[in-house]
Amino acid sequence: MNAIQIIAKKRDGFSLTESEISFMVKKFVDGDIPDYQMAAFLMAAYLRGLDREETFFLTKCMVSSGKVIDFSPWGINPVDKHSTGGVGDKTTMILLPLVGACGVEVCKMSGRALGHTGGTVDKLESIPGFRTDLSLEEMISQVKRVGIALSAASKEIAPADKKIYALRDATATVDNLSFIASSVMSKKIAGGAKRIVLDVKVGKGAFMKEIDSATSLAQTMIHIGERFGLEVSAFLTSMEEPLGFAVGNSLEVKEAIEFLKGDAPLDLMEVCFALASEMLILAGICERLEEAQSRLQKAIDSGEALNLMRKWIEAQGGRGEVVEDYSLLPRAKKILLLRADREGYIQAIDALKVGQAAHSLGAGRLKKEESIDHGVGIVCLKKVGDRVRENEPIMEVHFSDERKLEVAIDLLREAVFIEEDE
Ligand code: URA
Repeated sequence: MNAIQIIAKKRDGFSLTESEISFMVKKFVDGDIPDYQMAAFLMAAYLRGLDREETFFLTKCMVSSGKVIDFSPWGINPVDKHSTGGVGDKTTMILLPLVGACGVEVCKMSGRALGHTGGTVDKLESIPGFRTDLSLEEMISQVKRVGIALSAASKEIAPADKKIYALRDATATVDNLSFIASSVMSKKIAGGAKRIVLDVKVGKGAFMKEIDSATSLAQTMIHIGERFGLEVSAFLTSMEEPLGFAVGNSLEVKEAIEFLKGDAPLDLMEVCFALASEMLILAGICERLEEAQSRLQKAIDSGEALNLMRKWIEAQGGRGEVVEDYSLLPRAKKILLLRADREGYIQAIDALKVGQAAHSLGAGRLKKEESIDHGVGIVCLKKVGDRVRENEPIMEVHFSDERKLEVAIDLLREAVFIEEDE
């Protein structure tokens, strides 16, 4: 077997066997296949596609490229949740304390920003002192004490995904169904999840722009999960406009805390309640949707969810008082108001452009060597469907560096479409 023959086979549209896929992945991880050959392989697979069987084989190789966690000796069976990446997606920060307050154990590994999307680890690191480098032992002991724990994905979990993802990022092969499905599921499976709720984003700000491709992605991930003996539920949720109001690390932390105090934008509330209800059902705590929803509402109304947020932050070394005192969070130096250039209805707010604008302000890394500015970002003051008057503020742009502002403003101007009245 050699790499050139396997690349040519895929280039010519043939299906690969498990041993051929395993050969490429293993040798690439070991450094025996150079980047240029793996890049050619990825592009061939991107253009020709991988079928379900090949996608399953790819996932299997990625799982076995590193450590596989087994929670059973520790006496916990956590429920996991994963989103395929969005803009303003602060659901993980909300769901952990929310379902945790209802008795669901969560021991989750999360990622950093990918492309224009935000990363939960970056967001939580905007809380002073919050540690995201927990060892597995620390995570398990925290789940036993507090019920929930979150850490940055360990380097030992699915290392093949990390290496392949970096190459996908550099070769325009990120937005491929099989690659995304195997990337997400290999990390979940190796991370020890047995029950998973997937949030598959669809729309302008998502990797999957159309319902059909998002549905196929969801079905593929469920299929992979089932073949590994997992229980997997998937939701398709909209990523046409940013989720909620805030985009940017500390701005999103604040919105997540506000949610737990009962103050939430409708779209964010719908997504969180749908995902959280399913987590309660998978955990066997509730049987039906209505029961789960009223249990979640009770956790918010009673303050249990907010209390758990504080405990969680403190357990991971952060300053728990942040749930009452937002001045502890990093803040941008200045705020500029973006105003409507005409009167009418907001017809669209392009999530991709808003995500790119937040990154260009410094909310995420565009290049590895760049540092993150946790205070910057955007707060949407209007949502799609809202009416605006000419000159009325539609967004707050939180910025610290004037030089970065111009690019962001151009993107945000292009992001908002206002439909004039007839
Ligand atoms: N999230 C992942 O973990 N991997 C992808 O390829 C895309 C989104």
